[in-house]
Amino acid sequence: MISVSQLPFSFVMIIILNVLTVKIWALQNLSYSRKPFTIHHEALLYIMSFPFGKLLIIGVGTLICVSCAIPTVRPPQPSAVPVDSQEKIIEIDKSQIQTPSEPIPSAPTNVAVIDRLQPATPPLVVAWLPASLLSLHNTPVVPGGIAWITLPAHSEIPPKIMYQKRRVLVLRQEQGWVALVGIPLSAKAGQHSVVDQQTGEDYSFWVENKKYKTQRLRIKNKRKVTPNRQDLQRIQRERKQILTALKTPWQITSTSPLPLMQPVKGRYSSPYGLRRYFNGQRRSPHRGLDIAAPLGTPVIAAAAGKVVLTGHYFFTGKTVFIDHGQGVVTLYGHLNSIVVDSEQIVKKGQIIGTVGKTGRATGPHLHWGVSLNNTMIDPMLVRLSVANIIAK
Ligand SMILES: [Zn+2]
Repeated sequence: MISVSQLPFSFVMIIILNVLTVKIWALQNLSYSRKPFTIHHEALLYIMSFPFGKLLIIGVGTLICVSCAIPTVRPPQPSAVPVDSQEKIIEIDKSQIQTPSEPIPSAPTNVAVIDRLQPATPPLVVAWLPASLLSLHNTPVVPGGIAWITLPAHSEIPPKIMYQKRRVLVLRQEQGWVALVGIPLSAKAGQHSVVDQQTGEDYSFWVENKKYKTQRLRIKNKRKVTPNRQDLQRIQRERKQILTALKTPWQITSTSPLPLMQPVKGRYSSPYGLRRYFNGQRRSPHRGLDIAAPLGTPVIAAAAGKVVLTGHYFFTGKTVFIDHGQGVVTLYGHLNSIVVDSEQIVKKGQIIGTVGKTGRATGPHLHWGVSLNNTMIDPMLVRLSVANIIAK
């Protein structure tokens, strides 16, 4: 069918062909005196003298008309795609996406089908549960400890589990997923719960009471026990920086950030959770593990990660913070020297500094802090045994 936009050209073409036909007729039949004498009429007469001359003129005329018309004819506009055609497009895409290498969970509704066909679908990254963490399953859930929560395998995509509005480390195991929830030292004994943000399901667990030992220390520098107004301003400033470092943006990792390598070999001088008195005054409890070692002993990164903060702080002295992904952050305090910079990517076992006694410390030791879901937990729970430490 010729569309409306093509009509003027068809009309012009017919007129040109008619003119040509009339001219041929006139040149053939009218007496020479009545024939208009031009060069192109002479040429037409010459061509007409051949056996198929008239046909050749009409044919060439037609070709010229058509070739002039084609570039200016607008292509037909695509009509609106009917609904069932759209469904067909989805079907084709679905078959292409569902490859065995990239399993996608079953979705009951069409909305979900369309959702997972979005081109921005991130690649599937899953960290499997290492066998060395299985012992955590039997650890009592206490303040400063870890709650082991078994989740059914709703999908191959790691579930988004929240505890007190903070995202929790989730690892894959054969029969589903395990959430490893860091419990704050200030947590009250009783029923606690996590929520799966995708399904809305709650998983509750019990936190038992734990009485940590008391430690009394004598500090020569009285300002480290009772800071002056200037110190308090500095402490306030540093606290903000440290809280930001511990709240690093969520990074999915393909390998489990846990277990951790103990950063230095030495005597455990102060365990996690101690209720502390400095010069007879009660201060905040001990939220890390102290490992005594000679001044200058190299300190290594407990796992691969990114240095998120370094600095010289009032309480923890020269400190390094490393983000290992999925909410796992480690801190290394009282260092004598720091050999890494903020934003630097470090390997597991890489030297990051040396043991010192900077900040509020009675002697050279490493204060090792481990944070899960922005909660400082007992590092002893997630460290590899000392025998596994590579001598550096
Ligand atoms: Zn400490």
